[in-house]
Amino acid sequence: MAKGIDYLNSSVSELRNVGPKTGRLLEKMQIRTIGDILYHIPVKYLDFSAIKKINEIKLDEDVTIHGEIVLSELKRYPNITIFTCAVKDETSVIPAIWFNQPYLQKILQTGRKVFLSGKITKKLRRLQMENPVYELSGEDNDELTHTGRLIPVHPSTAGLSRRQLRSIIKEALKSLDNIVDPLAQILLLANEQRLPATGYRLTNLADAFKSVHFPSKDDDCKKAIWRFGWEECFYFFLMQYIRKYMWKKQQGIAHERTALFEKAMQRLPFSLTLQQEECLEQILSDMKPQNAMNRLIQGDVGSGKTVVAFLSMLNAAGCGFQSVMMAPTEILAEQHYEKFDSLFESLKVKSVLLTSSISGQQRKESLNAIQNGGASIIIGTHALIQEKIIFKNLSLVVIDEQHKFGVAQRSKLKSKALSTPDVLMLTATPIPRTLSSVIYGDLDVNTIDEFPSKQRIVETNVVSRMHELQVIKKVKELISRGSQAFVVCPSIEESSATNLQNVEAEFERWADMLYPYRIGKIHGKMTSEHKNSVMKDFRAGFLDVLICTSVIEVGIDIPNATVMVINNAERFGLSQLHQMRGRIGRRGDKSYCFLIADSPSGISYERLKAMEKHDNGFKLSEIDLKLRGEGEIHGLRQWGKNNFKFVDIADDMQLFQLAKKEVSCFFDNKNSEKIEDDILTELKRRYSLQRELIEEFENNCRKI
Ligand code: ADP
Ligand code: MG
Repeated sequence: MAKGIDYLNSSVSELRNVGPKTGRLLEKMQIRTIGDILYHIPVKYLDFSAIKKINEIKLDEDVTIHGEIVLSELKRYPNITIFTCAVKDETSVIPAIWFNQPYLQKILQTGRKVFLSGKITKKLRRLQMENPVYELSGEDNDELTHTGRLIPVHPSTAGLSRRQLRSIIKEALKSLDNIVDPLAQILLLANEQRLPATGYRLTNLADAFKSVHFPSKDDDCKKAIWRFGWEECFYFFLMQYIRKYMWKKQQGIAHERTALFEKAMQRLPFSLTLQQEECLEQILSDMKPQNAMNRLIQGDVGSGKTVVAFLSMLNAAGCGFQSVMMAPTEILAEQHYEKFDSLFESLKVKSVLLTSSISGQQRKESLNAIQNGGASIIIGTHALIQEKIIFKNLSLVVIDEQHKFGVAQRSKLKSKALSTPDVLMLTATPIPRTLSSVIYGDLDVNTIDEFPSKQRIVETNVVSRMHELQVIKKVKELISRGSQAFVVCPSIEESSATNLQNVEAEFERWADMLYPYRIGKIHGKMTSEHKNSVMKDFRAGFLDVLICTSVIEVGIDIPNATVMVINNAERFGLSQLHQMRGRIGRRGDKSYCFLIADSPSGISYERLKAMEKHDNGFKLSEIDLKLRGEGEIHGLRQWGKNNFKFVDIADDMQLFQLAKKEVSCFFDNKNSEKIEDDILTELKRRYSLQRELIEEFENNCRKI
């Protein structure tokens, strides 16, 4: 009878050849269950499938021979033991030797038949095998495990030989039988309907396990790995689906569309772009029912996300609730606060700012207003998530630059709400659409990729370091006419390891070159008060040029800045360059971005040239993905490694898309409430930390 999928949850110690000691060694590799060991995949295979006659073998070949042991002899020396045996087939005899494995004498005895696999070496003009892998024939092997085939090499640990590991896995496979494949039905449909066009076929689970560990040909393990990758994506998307489904089931707060909102729309000094309008409509329809909203707006700096968030907050205020906007830095929070006031002052909606530098009487008043409901719009930083801060009736949470906050920080803010609040997140880190559908799959996503009518005009030029003088001349000319400039460097201080422009040296150099203009510097090693005060000076126009690293905030608004010089531009990802360039020309003045590269050539030149041509963060991130791979997109590689074992987020996009389609075909429509038990059992094994949520979902399905 076929085993249930729950078998994967049984302890490895149930296997015949896993005792307490081996169990502890396996534990060291995080292998506790049968599932763990079956998903412990070989790092490589050794091809010992060629079984040769002894008179046919050649020096340096990897071969397997089969014959009878005609000599078995152990010699002990002070520092070494040498075990020799001679194996004879119908064509010839060959010696094999092993060092320091005296116990072999008991196993490889004269008269027994044996397979030996290994490389052929030469000693004193005679061919021999050194430390070959052996396997006795005649006992247990209708199928060979260690010799005479593609031999799997599994990652191992000290004290546990590869041979042992192979035997344990062999045993696990034996008891596996025809384990139930939870995805059998889905596989069937996929193989019939969607996969033929791609040329792929999905192998069933039991076969995939067998052929990944003991493939009979190269192609077998590739197919198995493909299935494991597909299945990994499938369960990942299913988990996302469940998270999204359960979030929407939570009791939230209903927000009708209010008169205050309509009034705010009328008072706007501009009309919204089409994309802003669409986005806002969706937000309002998410906010209306009692279900909770979980939405992300992604769009370049300056594309108008914040304004959309403000309008949503005003709608919550119109309903008599509080809303909060949390920004990653004080400068950004202050900027939002001022912007809100300048746009909506006439509405007489009370707003407060809360950051850690607001103290004394002002802080007290703010805290009171937050607690007694005097304020309905609250804008601030991390300071908002402190214990002491109590909201009267928070119903909408906006998180600006959401990726700058951890999950814990975000949920702490959510927990301050009345019940499950509506959540709106903003991000200016553009991610190609194909990727964002993977990463943000449990959110509803809006993308804004057109700028408000007043197009920013930033002319971008790639310049080689040799021609830097022309750049300096241009900067001088612009600041003499009252502009401000950023000069970005990849590092802070001089370092012998790299030959990069650094803030300290550039500060000195530009101060000399531009005397008597005023030069400031800012970088990540300065205290935040220090950074704040420099930034404030720059905003106020007390500094003409700011030498900085790339760490200074995205989204910072210096309306007067119209020129940016980026040193060692080839060092940065295109998205990052694009974000930096978003800091200039914010008032709509003609602006200049100079990308200085040491020796523009090849791919790095092609990449930078794309900056001259495109002014769309999504487009640029796609180009970068193509030219340099996903590693350049902020934090993505690590994210991929944390979530996936068999697939690579950049290389296997097709697989992701296929699996995602399969999940939505299967569950989004009529089947949504009837996910099979086996699938959920396996999901719980994979996402053990989310077990509770999955069980809640399970109960939910049963009830219906
Ligand atoms: P983001 O949050 O995406 O960086 P903001 O919402 O801060 O963008 O908008 C950037 C600037 O453009 C702000 O000064 C804002 O007032 C202005 N703005 C936003 N939407 C429009 C629009 N539809 N038309 C004109 N100006 C706009
Ligand atoms: Mg913003």
